Amino acid sequence: MNNDDKYKNVSRRSFLKFCGGALTACTTCSLPLPLKGAGSRPPAAGVDKKHGVKEAKYFEKLAEKKIQCALCPHECRVADLERGTCGVRENRDGTYYTLVYGAPCSANIDPIEKKPLFHYFPGTEAFSIATAGCNFVCKFCQNWEISQKRPEQVESIDLPPERVIAIAKNKGCKLVAHTYTEPVIYYEYMLDCAILGKREGVPNVMISNGYIREKPMRELCRSLGAVKIDLKAFTEKFYAEMCAGKLKPVLDTLKVLKDEGIWFEIVVLLIPTLNDGAKEISDMTQWIVKELGPDVPLHFSRYYPTFMLKNIPPTPPETLLAARKIALANGVKFVYVGNILSGAESTFCPRCGKILIERMRFASRVTGMKGNKCKYCSETIPGVFG
Ligand code: SF4
Repeated sequence: MNNDDKYKNVSRRSFLKFCGGALTACTTCSLPLPLKGAGSRPPAAGVDKKHGVKEAKYFEKLAEKKIQCALCPHECRVADLERGTCGVRENRDGTYYTLVYGAPCSANIDPIEKKPLFHYFPGTEAFSIATAGCNFVCKFCQNWEISQKRPEQVESIDLPPERVIAIAKNKGCKLVAHTYTEPVIYYEYMLDCAILGKREGVPNVMISNGYIREKPMRELCRSLGAVKIDLKAFTEKFYAEMCAGKLKPVLDTLKVLKDEGIWFEIVVLLIPTLNDGAKEISDMTQWIVKELGPDVPLHFSRYYPTFMLKNIPPTPPETLLAARKIALANGVKFVYVGNILSGAESTFCPRCGKILIERMRFASRVTGMKGNKCKYCSETIPGVFG
């Protein structure tokens, strides 16, 4: 799950209203236009509709019509007519299917800073979508109302990849973001959006927990523009007890991203007493510098009580600033603090110290850069700045 705190869980009515401009304008770009309401998907019937059900890309057939999913490290073994842990993939007669292809339950336009991606086209907007489902069960999930649901428990809309890219273009969005829930579980849909987006000049970004196996991740890297990974903590204990997952596969994904050369940033949601110890932050940031290099932007984000974790108060600002200090001391060059106003949201040149990109919450202003360099001392700033 990601840290977006104000997603819009879109209803059919509000989505159609939202799309109104795009639908009208699409008459000029000759895209097929659904009749108003024709693309809707009533709850409970959604998974049985042709649209939304598509054969999965990564699975193996086993004896007795069983399958083994090969998409994420859970590697679910699924009997006929059963689903995997994420709840959006189903075995039908020995073949595995995604049930959410082209069927988002959330859509909104967000600034890229909200994802957060700070070194990737700052100041632009992303057409942001999500389907139901997740392969983690984070007790502190901010979007649990859609991430912890099955497709038939939410209202979704028919939105094939061509429509996603067309709406992004029509609304003036530089990017498409797969966000709010966990896009790995709707892999085939995200991949097709990314392939088409790359061709059409609308890069797709994945906002993810990084819980994906190596082969599908490498395939995705060929088409995605950038990735943000939520590193939930730096202990297996936290991942097991708080997320129902494992840390090591996430670290492996980060190494794959580094190896693939795709742009990526890391977010750590600091939760008091659970993952905010100085030693854990130090171990984590030393690992980042050693394995990924000092240029990967690192965001420490403030936790607020929600979902199953309501007994712990919000992260004190001083904890976030202390974590930032540790990360900087360990050599991470770009360390940000989010979900509070601290002055630590802006980008500073690591060489001359001048301010390059000013940020206030989700607004940003590029003031000190020329291309991808500091305009004061010509230091190259890592990222994709357009
Ligand atoms: S993607 Fe879903 S079905 Fe596949 S292994 Fe992961 S949790 Fe299981």
